[in-house]
Amino acid sequence: MAIQENLARIKNSIPSSTKLVAVSKTKPEADLMEAYHAGQRIFGENKVQELVAKQESLPKDIEWHFIGHLQSNKVKYIAPFVDLIHGVDSLKLLVEINKQALKNNRIINCLLQFHIASEQAKFGLTMSEAMNLINDPIYKTLQNIRLVGVMGMATYTDDENQIRSEFKTLRSFFDTLKNEHLQGNSFEEISMGMSADYKIAIQEGSTMIRLGSSIFGARFKSPF
Ligand SMILES: *Cc1c(COP(=O)(O)O)cnc(C)c1O
Repeated sequence: MAIQENLARIKNSIPSSTKLVAVSKTKPEADLMEAYHAGQRIFGENKVQELVAKQESLPKDIEWHFIGHLQSNKVKYIAPFVDLIHGVDSLKLLVEINKQALKNNRIINCLLQFHIASEQAKFGLTMSEAMNLINDPIYKTLQNIRLVGVMGMATYTDDENQIRSEFKTLRSFFDTLKNEHLQGNSFEEISMGMSADYKIAIQEGSTMIRLGSSIFGARFKSPF
């Protein structure tokens, strides 16, 4: 029952307009079903094989988000069903997502991942790399993907000011892209905030938070 209680507590503490992605990586299907029965419909996974297996056996009205680092050669496995890919950080990957989306006669929604943390290990684009991507003539030919926003991960630290300033940076990248380059109603998501920092993220304009341990409890296997 803890999962349902956690979800209820979290939902009471966030604006109703904030989308909640339940990050279920490493967790058994029974845990996802407990969240499902509490009304949760958006789940996030960061491993292709695990996502495919869970999608096959769980209810079909679940919206699946891929939140990990996606390798181009694995896009084909999730292209038939994935609802949002959070971690797009290259034109090459976007081209492959477009190709696989076309094969499945779909348009796949994607977020550009930005590198906002001080840790080198985290993935993501710089603003100038993102500009190069969206100004590339190849990008303009892609008909089966839709960039619907940005995603980023703050540094893993106790320093709230640092986390806040990294989220502000992501927010400013979003505003720049939306106002100057990607006008239109569909560019609207800022995916930022995890269990430890989602309250700050919401204060800084997050529209979508990705929570794992605060819903499902600690993971015993490192996801990274
Ligand atoms: C694991 C993960 C999360 C959730 O982390 P928690 O700290 O358990 O909430 C969110 N986003 C990404 C990209 C992740 O890999």
